[in-house]
This record gives sequence, structure tokens and C-alpha cells, in this order.
Amino acid sequence: MDMNTIEAVLRTTDPAEWRDGDAWLAGGTVLFSYGSYAFGPEPLRRLLDLGSAGWPAVTVTGDGIELAATCTVAELYALPESPVLANRGPATDWPALDLVRPCCDSFVASFKVWNMSTVGGNLCTSLPAGPMISLCAGLDGTVTILGPGCSSRELPVADFVTGDGQNALAPGELLRSIRLPASALSSRAAFRRLSLSNLGRSGVLLVGTLDGGGQLTLTVTAATQRPVQLRFLPAPDASELREALDEAIPEDLYHDDIHGLPAWRRDMTYRLAEEIRDELAAPEGTLPRAVSGDFWPPRPVSAGNAWMSSGQKGA
Ligand SMILES: Cc1cc2nc3c(=O)[nH]c(=O)nc-3n(C[C@H](O)[C@H](O)[C@H](O)COP(=O)(O)OP(=O)(O)OC[C@H]3O[C@@H](n4cnc5c(N)ncnc54)[C@H](O)[C@@H]3O)c2cc1C
Repeated sequence: MDMNTIEAVLRTTDPAEWRDGDAWLAGGTVLFSYGSYAFGPEPLRRLLDLGSAGWPAVTVTGDGIELAATCTVAELYALPESPVLANRGPATDWPALDLVRPCCDSFVASFKVWNMSTVGGNLCTSLPAGPMISLCAGLDGTVTILGPGCSSRELPVADFVTGDGQNALAPGELLRSIRLPASALSSRAAFRRLSLSNLGRSGVLLVGTLDGGGQLTLTVTAATQRPVQLRFLPAPDASELREALDEAIPEDLYHDDIHGLPAWRRDMTYRLAEEIRDELAAPEGTLPRAVSGDFWPPRPVSAGNAWMSSGQKGA
């Protein structure tokens, strides 16, 4: 789409440069498809281009992984087999990295979107079906946000997205990076996703992690308007899990759009949450690692004429 209201494109990462009518430009896959009038009552006048930020896409340390906001989905997809990890040896043999590829695959994106769209752009677009939100919230990620006057603040990803297309950014604030802690990356992980159509947008996407101390964390995305995170220590039984979901997700928090009715999303959330609980309750190694992509591509299931992607244990 032509953005014919744009008067200037500025290469900068400095929030002090931002003024009304500006938008940060990352991959541009949303900006150039939604157009100038989609982001507020007034059209956009300037784009602040992050393309020359020069931030390293992925930084690995013993404490975890830092993803630059400008890291593309393609760069993230390459991470599990990247020399950046291999060179650090067993210290970064993190089982929860198995979530990276199924989450990237959940984009079901074209070549252009895959190679241009960024992790930060996905978080800032804040769609319920944002797969980078699912990944980063599911791995207890923390965002670093830069503001004018060299200010900086941090926030859990699960709190950063506050609703459908809504987030915690104040006007002009810039999402700099997302930090994934080693504690979450060292956990066992499980992934479940459903879409109403093959190659469709996620209708329900759940991530579960079980850490070394026995805490089970369940992150519900796509089904709900914003991420919902539940933590259990010790891991719950089936009825405790259902009760916790009842309490954490009121009916009107389930998302309603062409990609799934709220009632369907609710039913599938309970079903997939129980599958994750069951999978992580089994001793390690007794079940196939369901996030490994062994079950990709998607296959049909009976429930709701839906398609189930990686993580399916049998329809
Ligand atoms: C065919 C197609 C399919 C798609 N499928 C999906 C899907 O399944 N799920 C989904 O979630 N999205 C989907 N999208 C939307 C979009 O591609 C993604 O959300 C993508 O990750 C956005 O990233 P970007 O880098 O292109 O963002 P941009 O278009 O550059 O920016 C998007 C918004 O975020 C702001 N922004 C970007 N980076 C920052 C930053 N660092 N700090 C502050 N603000 C920032 C921009 O100002 C803008 O408002 C799809 C788009 C297309 C065209």
C-alpha cells in the first residue's frame, strides 16, 4: 500500500526524535499493509526507520538470550541450529528452545513476511495471534522499553500486551529488546496450537513449561485477547487446572473474530491445557518431545473441524 501521507523517513533509534504523527518502522509488514490512517485519528506523517539500528539480532550469555526488537522471524528460526549456541557448549543446551520453531511456523507467513517482519514489530502489533508474543511470554520474557530522555523500563512480555492491538507502550516509546531467562530456557516445554483452517491464523496457542523446581507455567495466547499466564507449584491435577482456568479467564476475555468463536476457543483452551499438563506430568523421555516439530505439518482433528499443528499426540 502506498503511504502517501508520509513526508519524511528518518533513520533513528532515539525516542527523543519522536513527535505526533510518527511511527517506528521495523519490517513494515503491518505499516505498509494497514496504511497511514490505521494508527490513530490523524494520518502518519513520518516513519522512524529502525533498519540501521545495528543491534545484534541475538545475543547469548549464560543468563539467557536477548533478542533485539529488530530480530526477524527468519533470524529467530535459525537460532536453534546457530553456531552462536553451539559455540557455548552444554551451558546453552536449553530444551525450551524447541518452542522457537513451532512458534515461528505459527506465522504461516509468506516469504516476504517471514524475512522482513520482526519480533519487536509482532509484539508491538499486539494481535492475539502474535506468535512471537506466545513464544516470549511463554518463556517468561522481559521487554526493555526506551523512552525520551534516555529513560528505560522493563516489563514482563505477558504484561506488555494488554488487549487486542493494545500494549503498554506510551506514545514515542521504543521497544529495544526481549530477554529470555536461562531459568525458563532450561525448562521442559510443551506446545499446542489450533487453527480453524490449514495454514490459517492461530485460534488457540498454549505453551507450557516445567522448571527444575517442579513449577508448571501455562501461557494461554491466541484464544484470549491478551496473554494469560498461570503458575502452579506443585503441578496441578486435572480438576485443579480446570478451576484455575475458570478463575483466570472470564468469558469475555476469549477473543472473537473470524479465526474462531469464543466458545470454541474456550473449549480448546481447556483441552490443550490438559494435554500439556498430562505431557509435562509424564517422566521426561517417556513421551515424544511434542514441540520438536515431529507432527508438522498440521493434520485434521475431529473437534470443531479444526486443524492441529505441532504438539498433536494423535487425533
Ligand atoms: C500476509 C500477512 C500475514 C500475517 N500473519 C500474522 C499472524 O499470523 N500473526 C500476527 O501476529 N501478525 C501477522 N501479520 C502481521 C505482521 O506481519 C506481524 O505482526 C509482524 O510481526 C509485524 O512486524 P514488522 O516488523 O513488520 O512491524 P511493522 O509493520 O514495522 O510495525 C508494526 C507496528 O509496530 C510498531 N513497531 C514496530 N517495531 C517497534 C519497536 N521496536 N518499538 C515500538 N514500536 C514498534 C510500528 O510503529 C507499527 O505500529 C501478518 C501480516 C501479513 C501481511
